[in-house]
Amino acid sequence: MEDMSAYPLRLEGPDVPMVRFMNVTKRYGSLTVLDSLDLDISEGEMVTVIGPSGSGKTTVLRMLMTLETINGGVIYVDGKPLTHMEKNGTLVPADPRHLRRARADIGMCFQHFNLFPHMTALQNCMEGPVQVLGLPKAEARARSEELLDMVGMIDKKDQHPARLSGGQQQRVAIARALAMRPKVMLFDEVTSALDPEVIGEVTNVIRKLVSEHNLTMLMVTHQMGFARDISDRVCFFYQGKIEEQGPPEELFGNPQRERTQQFLSAVK
Ligand code: ADP
Repeated sequence: MEDMSAYPLRLEGPDVPMVRFMNVTKRYGSLTVLDSLDLDISEGEMVTVIGPSGSGKTTVLRMLMTLETINGGVIYVDGKPLTHMEKNGTLVPADPRHLRRARADIGMCFQHFNLFPHMTALQNCMEGPVQVLGLPKAEARARSEELLDMVGMIDKKDQHPARLSGGQQQRVAIARALAMRPKVMLFDEVTSALDPEVIGEVTNVIRKLVSEHNLTMLMVTHQMGFARDISDRVCFFYQGKIEEQGPPEELFGNPQRERTQQFLSAVK
């Protein structure tokens, strides 16, 4: 058992990040996928994760979504432990109730948009706020319409997903995640399943979120140009560790580590 006394029950002080991975380890059997990972994300920061296939990028997002158990370390969100809870003055693994509550702070958009097929765009956005947050329907509707407008989908609010293009569905999925007012938004390869001609409409929505909203975001992408354009910081993952990180102009313009250089020259 890990000695939990090194982990504070809460993060306090002026510099508390919105997200902190502290010494996080994730294993599948004998395979260590995240190896004592430390990663802080400040409030309002857009951090992009890049790296070779299998380097642990998606696992980082899945850990934040609490879709995976943790094998070591603690993840904090807004100063409070996400993966753990306090018991008798120490941190113990979170129970399902704690996880359900904590998960409400995290919004996620996947490669495959997973909209509810039997609901319209508007109903998709209203579902979580009504069912999970208990918002009155009128309020959930107003919030959802505002967000559908923001992603340019208000004209299609009464359409079912099957009638929408992939790019349109992905924009609805972003509105749906935002309707829960998450503290942190995660984007996992949101453009990889899309036809090239509609990628721009989705990246533009994310661009708008970065420039107009003070949302904390963590994104995994293979689109290096997009990562370079919109990130405050880029982390290059290699075998479950951050091999190198920095502002995009430095990481892409002047990578210091050989593995980063090799990866970037291979994907160019
Ligand atoms: P990336 O997103 O960088 O491609 P992932 O985080 O998806 O990498 O995966 C990291 C490693 O963990 C890979 O070697 C992958 O095969 C392994 N892995 C991911 N999910 C599972 C799982 N459910 N069971 C076993 N191994 C897994």
